[in-house]
Amino acid sequence: MNTRCFKNIVLVIVFIGSSSLLSAQDFYQQLFDNYDTYKEQSITKRRFTHSKIMPLISNLKGNDFFTVQKVGTSIKGKSLNLISFGEGDIDVFLWSQMHGDESTATMAIFDIFNFFKADDFQQEKKEMLSKLRIHFLPMLNPDGAEMFTRRNALGVDINRDALRLQSPESKTLKRIRDSLNADFGFNLHDQSTYYNANRTPKPATISYLAPAYNYEKDVNETRGNAMKLIAYMNDILQQYAPGQVGRYNDDFEPRAFGDNIQKWGTSVVLIESGGYPNDPEKQHIRKLNFVTILSAIHAIATEEFKAISRDNYFNIPENDRKLFDLKLTGVQYPLLGNTYTVDLGIHENEVSAHTESGYFYKANIADMGDLSTYFGYEEFDASAYKVVVPKIYPEAFSTLQAVTEKGVASLLKEGYAFVKVSNLPQDKDAVQFPLHVISSEKNTDIKFYVGANPTFFLEKNGKLEYLVINGNLVSLSSEEKPFGNALIFR
Ligand SMILES: [Zn+2]
Repeated sequence: MNTRCFKNIVLVIVFIGSSSLLSAQDFYQQLFDNYDTYKEQSITKRRFTHSKIMPLISNLKGNDFFTVQKVGTSIKGKSLNLISFGEGDIDVFLWSQMHGDESTATMAIFDIFNFFKADDFQQEKKEMLSKLRIHFLPMLNPDGAEMFTRRNALGVDINRDALRLQSPESKTLKRIRDSLNADFGFNLHDQSTYYNANRTPKPATISYLAPAYNYEKDVNETRGNAMKLIAYMNDILQQYAPGQVGRYNDDFEPRAFGDNIQKWGTSVVLIESGGYPNDPEKQHIRKLNFVTILSAIHAIATEEFKAISRDNYFNIPENDRKLFDLKLTGVQYPLLGNTYTVDLGIHENEVSAHTESGYFYKANIADMGDLSTYFGYEEFDASAYKVVVPKIYPEAFSTLQAVTEKGVASLLKEGYAFVKVSNLPQDKDAVQFPLHVISSEKNTDIKFYVGANPTFFLEKNGKLEYLVINGNLVSLSSEEKPFGNALIFR
């Protein structure tokens, strides 16, 4: 081969490669940039129920583009619905929220419906719809969603019921998978926000898995295609959440749906939505789901994902679980006449409640000691600070309002983090100011150990500078950041 011929070949390859890839990239970038156009505005928080999505599904019935079928019923009688569209031969099946408290992808699915309802991107849609038939089963576990629990009304984890099929939700998923004999499956979940990309401080905002179909973790064409598709999605996602992608453990679980559906011949992609800084309602992660799931669907239609090496899948860092909500490094902790240096890892922990968000936070010290291999969403170097045990204000206040009238900041500056209130509102377990509330008859022990609620002052040069209360780090000299909640102890 002479040099010139070689050069031409290289040019042709570069041209083909870049032109098709660029247009797909542009498409995905525009999905990201124009996301708000498609965002389903009636859902803005993670906790929502079947009754919230049913009007949206009913609306789709009025649109010829969508085929809506009731395909099953939950234990408590809520409908399971399959929404299908497209004229192609390749079947793509996506199901979400088999765990009731994992709703991020369900939100994104309704955004995706809005995308297909809109008039734009005709060329891209034509490409997808001529090649594919796409099926969505959103909120597979509506009874769990009602209680915001992982398990269904039977108390069973649907993802361990793929073989025994005792739950009607499991039976439905199996029956639909079999009747479609789908080429591709998307198993949509949420994972703990405490997962990070291995040996980095970055949260695993999204984790992927091409589930194994046997203990040997063999890779056949079905699983190999899932790996390639994941590697493709990872390339897209890296632009929007660099370093924030993890690879989920691929130990074979013979009772799980993903593993079995892979075994039954559908290329399964598991997507786990984790944490993203300052996104407690997971609205940004919802957007990342929207962009990457649509990108994957597009790449299945164009077959672009097939050019990706499986090795790229294995290059995604593994999931690790080394994150805290708040990590304090080098706290000076005085105990029985000596002072010790400890790091503290604090978890916030959601508790379901009848508040506007549907929950409040009840924090605990998750670990203490040398936590140098761990990270925090928020990190604070406390090495110049000594722990000071907070005091209980001696006089009882009549109401919560009387506390705020007295002045929260001045109480904190005097070292009080607990107040007694005689008339406690019956329906509240949390307060929005940084003081714990106790009933007037009761005293409380203040402790500093793993499992305890983290509530203490940080003192420097004899001056109280910070309060840690229920997982919040509060500066006593400024009020720059939003506060979660403190607790009412009855
Ligand atoms: Zn799950």
